[in-house]
Amino acid sequence: MRLAIYPGSFDPVTFGHLDVIQRASLIFDRVVVAAAVHAQKHHTFGVEERLEFLRVSAGHIPNVEIVKFEGLLVDFARSRGAVAVVRGLRAVSDFEFEFQMALMNRRLFPGLETVFFTPKEDYSYLSSRIVKEIARLGGDVRAFVPECAATGLKAHFSTPEARAQPSS
Ligand code: ADP
Repeated sequence: MRLAIYPGSFDPVTFGHLDVIQRASLIFDRVVVAAAVHAQKHHTFGVEERLEFLRVSAGHIPNVEIVKFEGLLVDFARSRGAVAVVRGLRAVSDFEFEFQMALMNRRLFPGLETVFFTPKEDYSYLSSRIVKEIARLGGDVRAFVPECAATGLKAHFSTPEARAQPSS
């Protein structure tokens, strides 16, 4: 059983994340999509809402499990018996951070490989942050995120207070 963890904020899940989940599910026996709780990081959506969007949009894939996690990724990976961490690489701009994380995680847990997936070109410019910025300014984001997340974004940015805050 080759189990991989796909960690991230998923704030909210986009078609780019879903593309990576789909690709990883074809390579690994089981993919655990793990939404980080990150008490210190500001998220637009709480972890339960981020999980709900993931469940609605990826919960139908039989070998995909959706959970939240807190703490060090390597500890979570060890506790689940994972052989790999899945991450997405969109552009060169992702590389430096992802490279540093991969090497640090290997140092902390030598048996854990980091495997990178590149999304379909149509999604390579997508990030949760840019989608939130479009939604904040009243744009239609249904081409970038699943319907549940588009509805959630619309509801979130329905107040002037939320619209006044630049997206993180
Ligand atoms: P984090 O806060 O951990 O960066 P994200 O939810 O932003 O969480 O991203 C999780 C992972 O998914 C990262 O490896 C990121 O590069 C990747 N990712 C994000 N958007 C896309 C996309 N459009 N296509 C491919 N991978 C993506």
